[in-house]
Amino acid sequence: MTQPRLLAIDQGTTSTRAVIFDARGRPLAVAQEPLRQIYPADGWVEHDPEEIWQAVLKVCRAVIAQTGGADGVAAIGITNQRETSVVWERRSGTPITNAIVWQDRRGAPLCAALREAGHEGAIQNKTGLLIDSYFSATKVQWILDNVPDARRRAEKGELAFGTIDCFLLWRLTGGKVHATDATNAARTMLYDIHAGRWDSALLDLFAVPPALLPDVRDTSGDFGETESDLFGRAIPIRALVGDQQGALVGQACFTPGMVKSTYGTGCFVLVNTGTKALPSRHRLLTTIAYRLKGATTYALEGSIFNAGTVIQWLRDQAKMLGHASESERFAAELDDAGIQQKEKGGRVYFVPAFTGLGAPHWDPHARGAILGLTRDSGIGHIVRAGLEAVCYQTCDLLTALRQDGIAVPPALRVDGGMIANRWLLQFLADVTDIPVERPVYAETTVLGAAFLAGLGGGVFASLDDIKTAWQLDFRAVPRMADETRDGLLKGWHDAVRRVKN
Ligand code: ADP
Repeated sequence: MTQPRLLAIDQGTTSTRAVIFDARGRPLAVAQEPLRQIYPADGWVEHDPEEIWQAVLKVCRAVIAQTGGADGVAAIGITNQRETSVVWERRSGTPITNAIVWQDRRGAPLCAALREAGHEGAIQNKTGLLIDSYFSATKVQWILDNVPDARRRAEKGELAFGTIDCFLLWRLTGGKVHATDATNAARTMLYDIHAGRWDSALLDLFAVPPALLPDVRDTSGDFGETESDLFGRAIPIRALVGDQQGALVGQACFTPGMVKSTYGTGCFVLVNTGTKALPSRHRLLTTIAYRLKGATTYALEGSIFNAGTVIQWLRDQAKMLGHASESERFAAELDDAGIQQKEKGGRVYFVPAFTGLGAPHWDPHARGAILGLTRDSGIGHIVRAGLEAVCYQTCDLLTALRQDGIAVPPALRVDGGMIANRWLLQFLADVTDIPVERPVYAETTVLGAAFLAGLGGGVFASLDDIKTAWQLDFRAVPRMADETRDGLLKGWHDAVRRVKN
């Protein structure tokens, strides 16, 4: 008998991927399609839902063909860019306008008005979120207020709303299932994460008719099956999960206190807080990590706006790097010259506040700076300072988490494009004073979707089974003296103080 396989779909902001895994979580085939970004106005970002759907079909068909057909595919899991919103006609499945992407800021004036009117506390208590146009609520509101006839049709029950997971589920099941999972619902700003239901007061506040909304289900469970003509056979769909939560599962962070940290364009840190939804006093987000068999596990989430963007800036704007990977050599060379001593060129700090400073500083008006240059400073010092900044910012986020009641984690499980850089991982371990763990398979988001599909499809019996499928590739152990670390962090905080508005 052939081993069951799992098909994971990762619908991201810039691309759509499908990966087939074996029953031990090892990838067998991958296909990817880029996604067009549509910028209709300043601060607006849209995607074409039809383009996303066609890409999903294409990548799924490609990986199924590469691995011997649909027969061995036990289950499908979907992970997706969160918050991005689609409204479509129930009758035809046709979107009434483009998807409004999470980055889109058109809801900002609505959000400002709500903050002004004093709704922040109540919204944070119910949803765990801070009022922001990132989340779905103002995107749906905008669509209903601006697409001709949309509001009337929504009230009559002719339209459906969903995040990308939900739209894809609708299409895959031929319109039979209108559902999302708890992690995606938690990012709409319409869902009470404690009561586990759409909140009628929030629906009123954002003028969203209940008739638009999907059923909210467990993250791993029964989401119906694909239309049989799509892939040659009806395949069960057994998981939907938001991308950051997918990564938390892909990193097997199932015990309260475990942390995953993703270093891509930005950096997202999620801490499993178990059955407790911890409110944040430091403007971090309280969110749902996953819901299994009706039991909700919560997470605290913090993000750093600029991680990989630092390397992109050094490469594309400053022309100091030909390729992102060169950053490691630059940093390591200086390292050899003696990072622990005061090397020639001095201690350079790079505060990458390109778009302001996030948690825990929260200064949207701050802008970037490179400080501490001397006649001896060279490109290497600046590049290394850029990598260090990503680590210092992680420290700041961990400090905010600690102040919100999170214990020092046993390790940081890292993923994302930047973790190819071993120097970065060592410095991260050194300045956080926490071991840093890189898994063998670094594409943890899509792996998480496969794990959850396997759990829902009976390939994995429990989370413990998934834990054993997670494999360590490289572990960086802290080896910096406390005194050195304290000195470096003091210098960083001085530098941050100088760029604050
Ligand atoms: P995203 O999913 O957000 O698009 P990825 O996870 O693909 O991002 O990570 C890409 C980022 O990682 C880019 O910003 C790139 O500059 C950075 N990066 C890639 N390789 C390295 C490296 N060896 N050292 C440091 N940064 C790197």
